[in-house]
Amino acid sequence: MTQNQLKELPSVSEVLLESDPYKSLNSKYITYIIKAELDGFRRAAIKGTLKLKRAQITQNILSDIEGFMKPSMKSIINGTGIVLHTGLGRAPMKESVAKQVAKRVSGYTNLEFDLPTGTRGQRQNHVNGLLSALTGAQSTMAVNNNAAAVLLALNELGEGKEVIVSRGQQVEIGGSFRIPDVIKKSGCILKEVGSTNRTHIKDYEKAINKKTGIILWVHTSNYVVRGFTHDVGLSDLVQLGKKKRVPVVADLGSGALVDLSEKGVPKDMLVQDVVKSGVGLVTFSGDKLLGGPQAGLIVGKKTLVNKLKKNPIARAVRCDKWSLAFLEESLRSFGDDGPSKDNLTISLMTSSRKALTKRGETILSHLPKKTVDNLGITLVESDVEAGSGSLPEEKLDSMAFRFKPKGISASKLAAQFRTGDTAVVGYIHGNTFYIDLKAVIPGQEKDLAGAISAI
Ligand SMILES: *Cc1c(COP(=O)(O)O)cnc(C)c1O
Repeated sequence: MTQNQLKELPSVSEVLLESDPYKSLNSKYITYIIKAELDGFRRAAIKGTLKLKRAQITQNILSDIEGFMKPSMKSIINGTGIVLHTGLGRAPMKESVAKQVAKRVSGYTNLEFDLPTGTRGQRQNHVNGLLSALTGAQSTMAVNNNAAAVLLALNELGEGKEVIVSRGQQVEIGGSFRIPDVIKKSGCILKEVGSTNRTHIKDYEKAINKKTGIILWVHTSNYVVRGFTHDVGLSDLVQLGKKKRVPVVADLGSGALVDLSEKGVPKDMLVQDVVKSGVGLVTFSGDKLLGGPQAGLIVGKKTLVNKLKKNPIARAVRCDKWSLAFLEESLRSFGDDGPSKDNLTISLMTSSRKALTKRGETILSHLPKKTVDNLGITLVESDVEAGSGSLPEEKLDSMAFRFKPKGISASKLAAQFRTGDTAVVGYIHGNTFYIDLKAVIPGQEKDLAGAISAI
């Protein structure tokens, strides 16, 4: 049986002969794919589960090679309703803004060059002023992401010393970032205080000794503890830190710069308020509520930020010209009247049910009646999360297409949407497939209608 199946396997050179249509592809890639595929088929043959004949095997490998002709990362329609979806690239950027940035930085740019004097400049200077003005901080810096910002701050201020953190704040931000692990990896000693649900100022007081390097305060942005709880406010920690001469570092995570509660987005702690409370350093993400590129922003006391800038880790986690240029744009989008339309993340997050209903109806009007009937599409009210651990308690108002198709399961329908020419990622809730409109970018209506019609 196995022997017969093994005989069906073509040789590498046999498939290579058929790969002529793809010759614009590097032949190393082609050979790589053929070998990898053949390995898989060989394993199946050895197990006796290979059902395909020689010609079909060759065909399968060729269509894989064809897939390799297209870029791996592509534009998709986010129908999950989650605006800050880490799997889908977090904060979306406006295409017109991206084009402007590409024009300015794709060639050479004055990244670290002071044009008036012709001398070496600082890459941080492109965003320092904006960040200081918006957050009220004495000094600022940007690094690769918030995880790097926390690592850098801990390592510089707490290496070989104890970092005091409440047991209620030892959060995990998606698997790869756990506060206790980051503390250890930055060379600090974790000093836990309090309990999961209750921590008091006296717990911190008792924990401070000669070995204390930092009091770390973490915004438990992606979960809430309810019921019999107590935590210590930042201003109390700051007072304690002052008295004992220990810097307080606040990992704020989502990093909101504006209060959008009037526009339906629940209020989160604002960066500028945390700065005002007197903490030494605040760190937050560039691609959460700020709506910018992946970045970690560190703002706070000048003496502390200056120390961080000299740490070799700062060089290892520095931002490239693209992130800094996008970050500059994102920071500029915050005007006196709040964020402008150029901040796509915030415009998506603040879009009202009324506006979404109108867009949903526009999309429906592009669909043939037969499609709407066959797929059983209706526009319904929905609630969505902001995503990326931001604003975990409250939901945002939204609208979604609900699908009740004839003769196809929700999971099959979801898969068809994901693998169509225009990939659409929706979600399944209670055996029903939905495409939420909250994170569908204005301008994608026609493409979405096309993707639905193509099912
Ligand atoms: C999201 C988050 C992080 C990690 O930020 P990245 O920019 O994704 O590295 C760290 N701490 C908190 C509290 C967060 O919410």
